[in-house]
Amino acid sequence: MIAPLNRALSFERSYVGNVDPIRRRRFQVNAGKRRSTGRGTLRVIAIDAAQPFDSEAREDVKAQRQKVLKIGIVGFGNFGQFLSKRFLESGHSVIATSRTDYSTHASAIGVSFFADADDFCEEHPDIVIFCTSILSLEATMRCFPFQRLKRNTLFCDVLSVKQFPKQLFLQLLPSNFDILCLHPMFGPDSGKNSWQDLPLVYDKVRVGDEKCRSERCNRLLSFFELQGCRMVEMSCEEHDRQAASSQFITHTVGRMLGTMELSETTISTKGFDSLMSLVDNTYHDSFDLYYGLFMYNKNASAELARLELAFNQVKGELFGRLHDVIRSELFTENSGAHSINENPEKR
Ligand code: NAP
Repeated sequence: MIAPLNRALSFERSYVGNVDPIRRRRFQVNAGKRRSTGRGTLRVIAIDAAQPFDSEAREDVKAQRQKVLKIGIVGFGNFGQFLSKRFLESGHSVIATSRTDYSTHASAIGVSFFADADDFCEEHPDIVIFCTSILSLEATMRCFPFQRLKRNTLFCDVLSVKQFPKQLFLQLLPSNFDILCLHPMFGPDSGKNSWQDLPLVYDKVRVGDEKCRSERCNRLLSFFELQGCRMVEMSCEEHDRQAASSQFITHTVGRMLGTMELSETTISTKGFDSLMSLVDNTYHDSFDLYYGLFMYNKNASAELARLELAFNQVKGELFGRLHDVIRSELFTENSGAHSINENPEKR
């Protein structure tokens, strides 16, 4: 009987770790009592037999996390549509509204489109995700009929800058709304196939204490997790600091190369192919998006200045060496002037 008892005790240790403190205490007291009686061992075996119920409970939690969400997209442009398709593929339901009438396009992919934002809100989505351009977020929010939504709707954004939407949400949204700032660090080009290992940055800015509210937030995050994203929890402020030196610089270089209109050659190297794919991943994004990365990230100007400085430094090295060569030719004996390297004793 020792083996079943050990199994039971090890289960007790793992099981009680998952229950609330009051139930855990009651469980420990009862289990202790049972072990001290002559018949206690038999009862402990019954705890061992309860394992399948625990695994069922875990499955239940998993199913809850995957439960269908009604997601409302505001701004059904390039990125809004890209995200909607993945939500639909995962079994969630999607409604959308936008400045442009996308009714035909939306119904073709299974999204219910509402040209009127009031009608959209009265559908009472669980989650509203703002996918508008960075530049238009404030104007869109200021005329958005929040009062028609459910009292504790979860609000998200996917803007490529994070401090700005966070501040705007905190300033304009009713205090009973939850706020989750997201940045999928990929787009319709870089994420057209798998999202495996692509970073998803998130900041739970304000999520109410009720279980259903934290579950709803976690369910949305688990959608990205199940797609294979690398989940990165980070403050909006830290995101902007890091994104200025990575994402903004990537877009700037991509735009510069795109503006040069580089094209494939018959002798392209792997390095050149990488540059072409950088152009592909950035140059097709709207200029509004790029300008938003600059204008609404307070760290971007300094990074642009550093890039310019670095370019001038590299160019300076090239021209500096070229000038040395020209000067040494100018100052050779043949030119009638003295070589700058000439030994004065030889003269
Ligand atoms: P975008 O040019 O940044 O945004 C286009 C969206 O903004 C469209 O839905 C458009 O609505 C809306 N919009 C633009 N001006 C508007 C105005 N004056 N009033 C109301 N709505 C306006 O391009 P995007 O690629 O679709 O990006 C959308 C958001 O996702 C941006 O915040 C971007 O930072 C973020 N994001 C993009 C990527 C990416 O790779 N593309 C990746 C991650 C995050 P209409 O179409 O109805 O005109």
